[in-house]
Amino acid sequence: MIAKTRHIPDGKKELKALPIEHYLDSEYLYYPVTNARCPEGETCVIGGQFVKVGEIIGTRKGAFFEQPMHATASGEVKGYEKHIDQSGKLVDCLIVKNDFKYELHESIKDRTDEEIDALTREDYVEITKEAGLVGLGGSAFPTYIKLQTKDPIDTVIANGVECEPYLIADYGLTMTNPLPILEGLIYAMKASNAKHGIIAIKKKYNELYERLSFCVRQYEHLDIKIVKVGNYYPQGWELEVIKNTTGIKIPHGELLSKYGILNFNVSTLASIYAAVKHRLPVLERLFTISGDGVHNKSFRARIGTSIPKLIELAGGYKDPEIPKVLILGGPMMGVNATDDSIVMTHTTTSLIVMNDKPEKEEPCIHCASCVYSCPVDIQPIQIMNAYKAKDKEMIQTLDVNKCIECGLCAYVCPSKIQLTEYMRKAKTYLRK
Ligand code: SF4
Ligand code: SF4
Repeated sequence: MIAKTRHIPDGKKELKALPIEHYLDSEYLYYPVTNARCPEGETCVIGGQFVKVGEIIGTRKGAFFEQPMHATASGEVKGYEKHIDQSGKLVDCLIVKNDFKYELHESIKDRTDEEIDALTREDYVEITKEAGLVGLGGSAFPTYIKLQTKDPIDTVIANGVECEPYLIADYGLTMTNPLPILEGLIYAMKASNAKHGIIAIKKKYNELYERLSFCVRQYEHLDIKIVKVGNYYPQGWELEVIKNTTGIKIPHGELLSKYGILNFNVSTLASIYAAVKHRLPVLERLFTISGDGVHNKSFRARIGTSIPKLIELAGGYKDPEIPKVLILGGPMMGVNATDDSIVMTHTTTSLIVMNDKPEKEEPCIHCASCVYSCPVDIQPIQIMNAYKAKDKEMIQTLDVNKCIECGLCAYVCPSKIQLTEYMRKAKTYLRK
C-alpha cells in the first residue's frame, strides 16, 4: 500500500507545557572554532587572557563568508578541548572560565531610536555581519548575506512554523518574548525597504496568534500580518511557507529575493533586534532535551554551555545501562551524535535521547511510499540504488541536490531503510 505522508506526530504537546529553566551560569563555556559551514577557523586570544561578554575571540572561515566568534561570559581563556558541535562532529573548542561578573565589552552599548532611524541597508548588513548572526532555526546561513541582496524586496517573512517534531524553541521564544521578534521583523523590513511583513505560524497555535496579535496592534501603521498555515510537515520549509503565505511559487534552487521575498526564522529576527538595538551577538538560546531515554526539560542557556550539565540538571539518563541514540535537532532532519560531550552553539535547538532499539533494514518492497511522500518530487529509492552502484551520472540525473533532507522518505519506509542518510551520502559523493 502506498503511504503518502505529510501528517506526522509532532510530540510537542508535553514539551510545550514544560517550564523553561534558566541555566546561564555555566562555570566553563566552550566555543567551537569551526562548524559545518566554516570548516576552518582561528582564535585571537591566548591562554590566561581575560575576555568580556561580546568580545571577539576568533573567526570561523567558510567558503564564502567569515563568522566572528564572541565570548558569552566574561572570564579567563583556559585553552582548548575537543567537543561535539551541532554537526555531530568532534571539533576544537576554545574554553573560557566564567568569572560570573558578566562584564560587557566596550563595544556593547545601546543604539538610540534616532541612531536606528538613520541606519542604511549597508549599516544593517555590517551590523549583522559583525554580530556573527546566522539562521537560528538550524540552517546557520549568514543573515547579512540575505540582507545585502540588491533585488527589490516586497515582503519579509518571519517564519515561526517550526514543523519539525519535538522542536519548541521558536514556540517558546514567541510565547515568552514576542516583541524582539516583531522589532527584528521591522528592522529587516527597514533594511530591505520591504512594504509588507508576514508572521507565519501553525493554524493550531491559537495561543501564539493571540499573543502576536496583541503585539502587532501596537504597529498599526505598518503592514504586518499574522498568517496561519497548515499543520503538516514540512510546512516550515521556506518554499512551502512562502507559497502558503503569499501565493508565490518559487521554483526549487531559485533565490527568494528574485521574487521579492526574504524569509527569516523568528529566533533569527530576535537576534537581529538584539544586534541592532543593543549591539549584542547571540548570547543565549532556548534548548530542549526530550526522548524516552531522558527526563524532558526546557532550558534557556548560554551559548557555549556544556550539554551534559543540562542533561544532569534534567535528572540524567533514565536508564544509563541502556545504550542511547543521541539526535541533535529534530528526528526528521537532525544529526546523530556519537556521544554526549556536546556544546551549545547558535543552532542547538534540541537533543533527543532515545533508548537504542536497533531496527533492522529490510529489503525494499517497491511500495513507492518514499516517492509519493517526497515534497520535492524526487525518487529516493532510485537515488539510493544509483549511490550504491556508484553511478554519478544517474545520481545527477535523479536530481539529488533538490533533496531538502526533510526525512519523510525514511520515516514512511516500511522496510526501515535509512533513505535520508543515503541522500546525504549521494550528495557528498557527487561533490567528490
Ligand atoms: S529527505 Fe529528500 S528525498 Fe527524502 S523525502 Fe525529503 S526531500 Fe525527498
Ligand atoms: S525504499 Fe521503502 S518506501 Fe521506498 S519503495 Fe522501497 S520499501 Fe517503499
